[in-house]
Amino acid sequence: MTLAAPRIPLDRIRNIGISAHIDSGKTTLTERILFYTGRIHKIHEVRGKDGVGAKMDSMDLEREKGITIQSAATYCEWPGSQDQFAPHNVNIIDTPGHVDFTIEVERALRVLDGAILVLDSGKGVQSQSITVDRQMKRYSVPRIAFVNKMDNPGANYERVAAMLKDKLGHHPVKLQVPIGAEADFKGIIDPILGKAFYFEGADGEIIVEKDVPAEFADVTKSARERIISDVADVDDVLAEKFIGEEPISVDDLRAAIRRATLALKMTPVMCGSAYKNKGVQLLLDAVVHYLPRPTDVVNEAHDQDHDEQKVVVESDATKPFVGLAFKLQQDKYGQLTYFRVYQGSVSAGDTIYNASHEMRKVRVPRMFRMHSDDREEIETAEAGDIVAFYGVEASSGETFTDGKVKLTLTSMHVPAAVISLAVAPKDRANEANFSKALNRFTKEDPTFRVHQDEESQQTIISGMGELHLDIYIERMRREYNCAVIAGKPQVAYRESITRKAEINYTHKKQTGGSGQYAKVMGFIEPLPADAVEPYEFLDDVTGGSIPREFIGSCDKGFKDAVKKGTLIGFPIVGVRCAVNDGAAHAVDSSEMAFKTAAMMGFREAYAKASPTILEPIMKVEIDVPSEFQGSVVGQVNQRRGVIVETRGGEDSTSVTAEVPLNAMFGYSTDLRSATQGKGQYTMEFARYAIMPRGEQDEMIKKYREKLAAEAAKK
Ligand code: GDP
Repeated sequence: MTLAAPRIPLDRIRNIGISAHIDSGKTTLTERILFYTGRIHKIHEVRGKDGVGAKMDSMDLEREKGITIQSAATYCEWPGSQDQFAPHNVNIIDTPGHVDFTIEVERALRVLDGAILVLDSGKGVQSQSITVDRQMKRYSVPRIAFVNKMDNPGANYERVAAMLKDKLGHHPVKLQVPIGAEADFKGIIDPILGKAFYFEGADGEIIVEKDVPAEFADVTKSARERIISDVADVDDVLAEKFIGEEPISVDDLRAAIRRATLALKMTPVMCGSAYKNKGVQLLLDAVVHYLPRPTDVVNEAHDQDHDEQKVVVESDATKPFVGLAFKLQQDKYGQLTYFRVYQGSVSAGDTIYNASHEMRKVRVPRMFRMHSDDREEIETAEAGDIVAFYGVEASSGETFTDGKVKLTLTSMHVPAAVISLAVAPKDRANEANFSKALNRFTKEDPTFRVHQDEESQQTIISGMGELHLDIYIERMRREYNCAVIAGKPQVAYRESITRKAEINYTHKKQTGGSGQYAKVMGFIEPLPADAVEPYEFLDDVTGGSIPREFIGSCDKGFKDAVKKGTLIGFPIVGVRCAVNDGAAHAVDSSEMAFKTAAMMGFREAYAKASPTILEPIMKVEIDVPSEFQGSVVGQVNQRRGVIVETRGGEDSTSVTAEVPLNAMFGYSTDLRSATQGKGQYTMEFARYAIMPRGEQDEMIKKYREKLAAEAAKK
């Protein structure tokens, strides 16, 4: 542990993410960045023979699966490939690649200001590139494309750049000219500077600048002209100079590229080979030149004191502190919570308040800047910084403030889980670890939920997709030494109503001495489709027909009723329950009586409110060689799917469809066999929708049979 150098001004900070389709070289690239910035002193190959593995993948599981699941933030310093800059802080936030982890991806994207999109020089834009790119677009994250693996057979820089335009709708501008390709890939020309760069030394750490080789003089000249005209297309300042035929300096051109990149009007395209140690340092220079400083980005928070109204938080150290806990990590020192400071500053010893959790007060004992496994202690963090707090109780996604403002960076609304399964420890002796693990995961990830099924007494976990749950089961085994028996995945159906129905119910019972009496009147009706909460209670009782002290009991009774619908036993959502009249008895009325009356009244009304079953619909993106398009569309139709969009490239086609989750089981096997293993797909939750009538009837019938069978047993 070392003590930090004095802090760097905001304009020298870059918070970036690195995104890629699996196997394009994200881990290798990250490893090289850490090496060239002096953060690690030796390169370990991914899945390398030395058995050490790349440093960023700090979890065993990730190492083995070769995919990065959790976002780790790593800090490094970059003075430029030629020491041409004052030192810059580059924080690399590792973005999880898999779309099942919607919340994790969202959190990571919120925390970063810019990104590198790594593409395979042969495969170009692949299915996951499309998904992450879309997410970045949604969050307005400017990005640089890095065409990796230029040393590979089939490497084609031009083609990948063209795919950025065709498949992602970018305005790609090629900032470099590769010297040779495939096995002959030797170096890179920067046409803006008019220089050639070579990477020498055992690990490419010595950068040699040379004149452009004579045979590349013409290509370099036309590449520079092309850059100018491409950038002028989207930048007025440069366009004016270009049209006026004024001289354009290196700084003019870079400034224009920066403006256009930040405005998401163009994507700088660069190339190299992470594995063969070429081009990485130039990419880092471009991060400094073209990706946003924290002050370039407008960040919005929700004001919890004013109905989630949006307010801008400013990268200004003198304003009230606002920071987001975006990741929790247990390391050898204890519990670390990663924070991005959005506004103001925070120091060790300060007391801060959890705006996402009733302004609960916590003290910040110690603060660190994190490397992958090492850390350095710091005293103060300011807006724009990414740091880890030690010993701060938090869940990820929570916002902390100085206590004067109640702002949250993320909306408090968490998407509904779409899939669930029953889990139990294989060995009873592991019960303690089992609960510990589940406890921890729910804290880290609000889309991962755990509950006890009242009837079966089973522990049910639910989340955003099959893989999402698989990963946690796997983590229990590895990190908590607890093997798990898992049941069959269950789709999280919902029940709802389609029209209003009156409630009029009298609960009356006379047993021995005191009786029970309550009368509840009101109605239930569907909530608007955009309602944030699934349930709403409306108290419209006037004149004291129901005494005040029993109103809360009505709310409780309704809440009990919506937990389990009568169609198929799934929760009821999208319903407003109102009480507007009723009656009480001086002696026989009680909280219990009103609760029961409300619950029974709800059930009666529910049957009259045209109840219906909802199912989760997934957005599925399928990438296949074009010759298989027909069979893929056929498969989607068979699975009750609806094609939303088909985008054809020359040789590959991307199909976007909406398919019920229930029809997606076993899809990967089917897709593989229909496309000779060449198809790929990703899916994410889109929305809940009403199930077709026939299927509903089938499910209701099955549920009744199950209930009857259970009743017979008793
Ligand atoms: P990730 O899944 O995107 O993190 O990709 P990895 O970094 O794990 O790389 C996937 C595979 O591609 C590994 O076997 C790497 O050694 C290899 N690889 C990464 N970069 C390059 C490159 O520039 N050239 C070549 N030929 N292979 C590379």
